[in-house]
Amino acid sequence: DQEQPRKPSWIRVKAPGSEGYRRTAGIMREHKLTTVCEEAGCPNVGECWGQGHATMMIMGEICTRGCTFCNVATGRPDALDAFEPGRVADAVAKLGLSHVVVTSVDRDDLADGGAEHFAMTIRAIRRRSPGTTVEVLVPDFLKCGPEALEVVVAAKPDVFNHNLETVPGLYPEVRPGARYFHSLRLLQRVKELDPSAFTKSGIMVGLGEDRQAVLQVMDDMRAADVDFLTVGQYLQPTPKHHRVDRFVTPEEFGAYEQAARGKGFLMVSSSPLTRSSYHAGDDFARLRAA
Ligand code: SF4
Ligand code: SF4
Repeated sequence: DQEQPRKPSWIRVKAPGSEGYRRTAGIMREHKLTTVCEEAGCPNVGECWGQGHATMMIMGEICTRGCTFCNVATGRPDALDAFEPGRVADAVAKLGLSHVVVTSVDRDDLADGGAEHFAMTIRAIRRRSPGTTVEVLVPDFLKCGPEALEVVVAAKPDVFNHNLETVPGLYPEVRPGARYFHSLRLLQRVKELDPSAFTKSGIMVGLGEDRQAVLQVMDDMRAADVDFLTVGQYLQPTPKHHRVDRFVTPEEFGAYEQAARGKGFLMVSSSPLTRSSYHAGDDFARLRAA
């Protein structure tokens, strides 16, 4: 085993424990909901939950893929819970969210990859909370026909997010089972199907990629008409996961942000603790108000 680089001072995490954090945690438990905040051991959970922001993870806690950066368990998932969309919608209403991010595990075991379940969840949130904007962070639907994506897009999420996660050269070791150009094409198709939808994608850095490859990913995303970009530091969830190659400095993150803005992304978040759903609502509200 190669030694891991030491965590630098800029990776600081606020310990959870505020009143708001406990309230969010209570609502999640009461509605028997899984969050990616907990499953992924997200470093921002204290801050986000303290403000009542959480990213719901639907379709269970077991994933059919085994990405080497991800803390979610791999195996055979449980059957879908038909009541889950309603519980998500209840929790969103109770939390009073102005923006919600809904994501899921990958469900290669389902013919539609869980597309209909996503669409039902979007519709249930809309019915209960018509003023809430909905962002979905979807799997790649690699094993499904084109209809799966169409079903999700037809439910009209405000933001359609699918993360490329890393540069193409690292796919075999970081995202086995996924295909870079399939994911890119998926994002492009969303825009073709619904030009009014905002599309979003993100990558982690510090996995061993080089700067040139990151800039190329940005170009690929813009060529696929992706609107929003997130770039954050990869953190190793457990010693069994992909190692951290290096900690990218805040200055380098700043340079990525500048480069991305120059390439025409409408919204860019690039910082060590940026996650796909970090401040997603605030950023989106700012964009809509502009
Ligand atoms: Fe949850 Fe996203 Fe906040 Fe992390 S950044 S705690 S995943 S809402
Ligand atoms: Fe984790 Fe998503 Fe990969 Fe499943 S598909 S292992 S949930 S990153």
